[in-house]
This record gives sequence, structure tokens and C-alpha cells, in this order.
Amino acid sequence: MSEHDPDTPAVSQRVGHGFDLHRLEPGHDLIVGGVKLKHDRGCDAHSDGDVLYHAVTDAVLGALGLDDIGQMFPDNDPRWQGADSAVFLREAFMRMSAAGYAVGNLDCTVVLERPRLGPFKPEMKANLAELLGCDVAQVNLKAKTHEGVDALGENRAIACHAVVLLIKNDS
Ligand code: MG
Repeated sequence: MSEHDPDTPAVSQRVGHGFDLHRLEPGHDLIVGGVKLKHDRGCDAHSDGDVLYHAVTDAVLGALGLDDIGQMFPDNDPRWQGADSAVFLREAFMRMSAAGYAVGNLDCTVVLERPRLGPFKPEMKANLAELLGCDVAQVNLKAKTHEGVDALGENRAIACHAVVLLIKNDS
């Protein structure tokens, strides 16, 4: 039984987009794609503030036509206080599998001024592939600075965009 809106036909391919942004504050950990990075500040968030996992979770939920991460895991629920954001992505994966879909491919862009993500991309991609039950070759990850402009460019925020293509298992 499909988990998504019953009025939505079970099409063979579904695309989803996710976006997330968190404030960066001293005294918090910076965790991106399940990797704890050395930095002078981190995300002031209800969960562990992993923007990459949050954006990908929303992309998968969006592709399925489901509620977004904030509706599914409200930030006033003490269960998600400091939560490892992998739990959100695992839930999205479960919903995706239950609806009969698998990941075709995922493309993500993290926007942050520093630190550089290059050395950590392989580990982040491996984490995403594991959580989404796909091959690492189906996961792409890019990082961009914000050219010193606005909060993102001033090391006061971190953001992430994600686009995912889901493919119906029997198509
Ligand atoms: Mg978030």
C-alpha cells in the first residue's frame, strides 16, 4: 500500500527537492552528513543540526508527497532534542521503501564559507548511500562558499539544497 497521497498516481519516477539552513553559533558542534567537523562554531538547532541530512530527508519526503521534516519531527518534541539526524533520514527511507520506491540518484549542494568539505565528502557520501540503501555512485555532493556575502558568507549560517529522483521498484 502506497504511503503517499492516495490521490497521487504511483508514477514510475518522482523528483523531490529539499532545502535547509541553520544558524552557526560558537559553543555548538558542526555536523554535516554525519561527520563532526572541526570548526569555531556549529549549529544552534533542536536536533544535531545536520543540514545535509535535513535537506535530503525533505527531498525524499517531498518526492513522496509527504509532510516535511518539521511537521513529521516537530522541534517542540523532546524526543528530537539533540537527536542524531540519521533517525530522520532512516524514517524517510522507510517511508520511501514502504511506498515501493528506491533512490535513482541524489544531488546535494552544501553552502558554507568554511571549513572546506572536500576531505570529508567521501565519508558523507558513504553515510548518505548507506542510509538511503543505494550505491555511493548514486550520491553526489558539492560544496560552495557564499563569496563572503550575507550570513552564509559571514560564517553565521550553513545551508543545503538537495534534489532526489526516486524510481518505482517494479518499473
Ligand atoms: Mg534543519
